[in-house]
Amino acid sequence: MDKLNFLTAGVPIKAGNKGYEEGFKVLDNMGLDGLELEFVRGVRISDKSRDAVSATTKVITAHAPFYVNLNAREEDKLEASVQRIIETAEVTNSLGGFSITFHAGFYLGQDKELVYNNIKSKIKIIADALEKSQNKIWIRPETTGKATQWGDLQEIVRLSREFETVLPCVDFSHLHARYNGAVNTHKDFCEIFEYIGKELGQIALDNFHAHVAGIEYGEKGEKKHLNLQESDFNYKDLLKAFKEFNVKGALVCESPNIEDDAKLLKEYYLSLK
Ligand SMILES: [Zn+2]
Repeated sequence: MDKLNFLTAGVPIKAGNKGYEEGFKVLDNMGLDGLELEFVRGVRISDKSRDAVSATTKVITAHAPFYVNLNAREEDKLEASVQRIIETAEVTNSLGGFSITFHAGFYLGQDKELVYNNIKSKIKIIADALEKSQNKIWIRPETTGKATQWGDLQEIVRLSREFETVLPCVDFSHLHARYNGAVNTHKDFCEIFEYIGKELGQIALDNFHAHVAGIEYGEKGEKKHLNLQESDFNYKDLLKAFKEFNVKGALVCESPNIEDDAKLLKEYYLSLK
């Protein structure tokens, strides 16, 4: 990508229930760059929405359904999880999207190496299926906000090294919550970009997919999303690090006031010299 784009997680609130077309107008009025399709309750999109999304020149990403566990014990749940990610990728690719993200699974108290291999074997099925149907879209496990969910930064970077079409979706607020308030300094953020650049190459920093929101957390990690100014998440130093490493791609704002915080983030980013 040629720059860092600022996206809302879903249709902006100000669009009311008027759908994507109105949503894109709101984004235009606010100087925002795109949105993430929220397929969190299923990969469904009406023909009208499909037309609006296909027609836009804005940056499009997607979030796969929450009902995904690539480490499920039951075969039917595994198959459904694989299918949901493939469908998300196919639909988003057909709409000209850039990248999709998903929460890959749960540890279920199992050995972490075993879980890694279970998830890797399912990602292989997904990556192979998408390659076969010539879907060219990044598929990205997201860094998760709770210690019971698979997906710390190291696990996701390791998985990304094994597949050409896999890169991390770094949810910085999740990392902050996962470690009960850590990962919140300029140095921490720089280390993340340094690590990803070193392990995955410049292509990962030129095609980044990030999630940012205010967040409430405790010892068990993520509790809920907050607006940035109601939370202790240090978005200013994060954006400084984005700028210093010249990271390009899509930064999706998941605060409850989605478009207002997306604009706050973008304006602060553009104010940096
Ligand atoms: Zn997510």
